[in-house]
Amino acid sequence: MLLSGTVVADAATVLDDGAVVVEDDRIVAVGDRTTCLEQYPDHERESYDVLAPGTVGGHVHSVQSLGRGIADDTELLDWLYEYVLPMEASLSRDGMRTAAELGYLELIESGTTTCIDHLSVAHADAAFEAARDLGIRGRFGKVLMDKEAPPGLLEDTEAALAESERLIRRYHGLDDGRIRYAVTPRFAVSCTEACLRGTRELADDYDGVMIHTHASENQGEIATVEDETGRRNIHWLDEVGLTGEDVVLAHCVWTDESEREVLAETGTNVTYCPSSNMKLASGVAPVLDYLDRGINVALGNDGPPCNNTLDPFTEMRQATLLQKVDHLEPQALPAPTVFEMATRNGAKAAGFDRVGKLREGWKADIIGLETDLTRATPLHDVLSHLVFAAHGDDVRFTMVDGEVLMRDGEILVADAEAIRERAREFAAELNAAP
Ligand SMILES: [Zn+2]
Repeated sequence: MLLSGTVVADAATVLDDGAVVVEDDRIVAVGDRTTCLEQYPDHERESYDVLAPGTVGGHVHSVQSLGRGIADDTELLDWLYEYVLPMEASLSRDGMRTAAELGYLELIESGTTTCIDHLSVAHADAAFEAARDLGIRGRFGKVLMDKEAPPGLLEDTEAALAESERLIRRYHGLDDGRIRYAVTPRFAVSCTEACLRGTRELADDYDGVMIHTHASENQGEIATVEDETGRRNIHWLDEVGLTGEDVVLAHCVWTDESEREVLAETGTNVTYCPSSNMKLASGVAPVLDYLDRGINVALGNDGPPCNNTLDPFTEMRQATLLQKVDHLEPQALPAPTVFEMATRNGAKAAGFDRVGKLREGWKADIIGLETDLTRATPLHDVLSHLVFAAHGDDVRFTMVDGEVLMRDGEILVADAEAIRERAREFAAELNAAP
């Protein structure tokens, strides 16, 4: 396939009249449109106003999709224990499948091609099956909770780790490596030391398996961890093995100098979730400091009940605006830096090589956007547009691993209206506060 348009190959490379050529799951050429047409005259052709690498959702909860709007205007721990965990506990396997499908549908429709997905305690198989069927790339993990969990989610430590191992054996590396596993403790508050140490051992036992958890999102959370362990949260995670290049920590809002040194020294990945941090009134992550230290920072929408959208373009906008106002510095987090976070940094955090840029030999994870829109006129700078003005609805084409998942705004891999209808039916039955 030969795709033509303005090609945003990466945050530093824009080809005004460019093309991307795809064969099987790979990009075989990126360059001038005329030259590509001469070199590949027989390839099927499509054109979009803008072509870009698919975005990477560096921290998402697809299975919370049925809870969009159930817990507005609450802080993290109330939000979690009063609303979101009871909802997760109430979901049947079919409900979980529908929730995951709805989440992946929203991601694919709005231009996210890879996600790092924090599932729930039960029914992880349903989400893996949905991800495989809908064609999204990602790193997924069943949630571990062996303390401070409501009925229905509390698990025995050994049983939780054994179930994680079963899922690794069943799904990790499937679909040519598109589906990968992360051992996923929910957070230090809900996991015993044995669970956290077992997480590290399990990840080390399987090639390419990573670790994904929440860390230092909220002041109440870090106070609880400090009371229980005598340590700041990042120091505690470091002690039990939950730092390193194979670890993704969502949030890291409340870290002190010594914790940031640990994150940098260990090469731990951090996912910045600005909308969630604002909506739950958690705080402002010290992202500029992390970047200065060379820490890899990805971007994430978190879950539909705390955002309430999975649109990566809205998230890019929020990411930079929040840092500008926090630092009273208009140059904080310029558009190219944010775009890099939402693409290649995310892919790196998720442990995918050759994903996150449009490059010869890289994976064909590509989105096409429309810019023949009033709010995209005039279009002086395409990166500025993508970060400050574009919206997920502008995405018309989504390809993952060379497979077209959406063309001309129509989802090809599932019956989108049927998913939305099932989601409305399951949402009506949810055991959650309105
Ligand atoms: Zn989260």
